[in-house]
Amino acid sequence: MSGNLSYVTSISRALEEALGKGYQIDPDALKLLQRLGEKRKSRRSPVEGEPSFEVIVREVMEIKARTRSTSRAIERSDLIEIFPELFDLIAESTPSSGVPDTKKVVLESIEAEVEVMKDPSSHIRPTGIEGFPQLFKSRYEKMSRILAERPEGRQVIKISKVNKDKGASKISGLVFSRRPTKNGIEFTVDDDTGSASIIALSPEAKKAASEIALDQCIIADVEASQGRLILKNIIQPDIPIRTASISKKTVYAVFLSDLHIGSNKFLEGAFDRFLEWISGRGVISEEDEEIVRRLKYVIIGGDVVDGVGVFPNQEYELAERDIYKQYEMVSQKLKLVPQHLQMFVIPGNHDATRQALPQPMIPKKYAASLHELKNITMLGDPTLFKLSGVSILSYHGRSLDDVLATTPGLSYERPQEAMKVLLRARHVAPIFGSRTPIAPEVEDHLVIEEVPDIFHSGHVHTVGVDRYKSTLIINSGTWQAQTGYQANLGISPRPGLVPIVNLATLDVRLREFLVSS
Ligand code: FE
Ligand code: ZN
Repeated sequence: MSGNLSYVTSISRALEEALGKGYQIDPDALKLLQRLGEKRKSRRSPVEGEPSFEVIVREVMEIKARTRSTSRAIERSDLIEIFPELFDLIAESTPSSGVPDTKKVVLESIEAEVEVMKDPSSHIRPTGIEGFPQLFKSRYEKMSRILAERPEGRQVIKISKVNKDKGASKISGLVFSRRPTKNGIEFTVDDDTGSASIIALSPEAKKAASEIALDQCIIADVEASQGRLILKNIIQPDIPIRTASISKKTVYAVFLSDLHIGSNKFLEGAFDRFLEWISGRGVISEEDEEIVRRLKYVIIGGDVVDGVGVFPNQEYELAERDIYKQYEMVSQKLKLVPQHLQMFVIPGNHDATRQALPQPMIPKKYAASLHELKNITMLGDPTLFKLSGVSILSYHGRSLDDVLATTPGLSYERPQEAMKVLLRARHVAPIFGSRTPIAPEVEDHLVIEEVPDIFHSGHVHTVGVDRYKSTLIINSGTWQAQTGYQANLGISPRPGLVPIVNLATLDVRLREFLVSS
């Protein structure tokens, strides 16, 4: 063992071995090893069982080989990942004069206040022979209650009572079909008494008819004319103007999604920078320090792994092809999130749980080590929960693809606009029978019954922040570089940019981790 050698010799031996095997050592990684060496030297006598530098570096190389990592660089994060206890040792022993980029943040003691209000995981109850009609009955009933709260809702009459020959009326129901005709747009609306065919002829009416999502609930303001119902106006369920609830104390929450761990496009370096930052290491600005001191919550909106067999030929884009090992890699990372932070994880379409919405939480069967982390709460998709008095609807966002594909004028660069369509429809996945699979549940859990203070999604891999009638809208981007699939679609992801929310003001700050600052 290296007991008799100076640490410098031991490090250079480790380096030589790594270089000989075709690996490079990142300068930051080298610095970390040197600091560890200084620490050891100051102790004079070696501690029993302490791994030598050669052993540490060898271990990193072995893991890289085993996980078929495409990177031949040994980074600081690789060392921390394998020997987190070594990193802790260094962090606590850092002298104030020693390393300027690291200072110890004095944490504010803040109690976590968590209330899970609606998690579909434990309420999943597929219908029997009744199938989808039961789901749509539930959707119609829930939406009718929402519409009844609108002033126009009180004037609504049942479709069976509509006089098709004269007069104006308001009807409400689910939009079941829509097609262009010679001079307008024709669509049908169903309630529990029947179906009405409505035609939009004026430019304003046509615009309104094209902007609604299929299968969503609306109030149609119509005028009868010679047996036809002409559309005057569409009233969406929408969210009311209100005041959002806020936390009494300054406390911060960070919003993440779409880690895609296991993909060879996972940006590990950027994610490690985030993990260090969140741990109060490498904190550089006063503003950073202010946030980290009062940080309490980490919300992860799904696609934590890249999964296996999600799309054809995905195996060529995977660094790890075993789904169990992918989740193991996730917990290796999330283990580095300090214990005083509370994490919340919902699934996405790349995760190993039921694909049809609502999705139950990622089960223990696949992600045992994640479930074991004490500071993590596994939830379903979508879930409504309250953190320090602020309600958050976290929804992965699969249906955003459908909304973006069918609503004129929307694009992947501004996912917040598609999220507004969902808020106006008061449903996270209104469009049925398109790309978003929806399960035939007895109850429609996808209706947005309570108006959230924060509406959080991911999935589209672009960052968007906006406010809509005092609800804060956040799409939290990704940690995966552009994939071949996205390149074909012309989608440019925005990885490593993290929305951080002060729950006392609902102000948002975007923090960059893609490049080191
Ligand atoms: Fe994703
Ligand atoms: Zn997704």
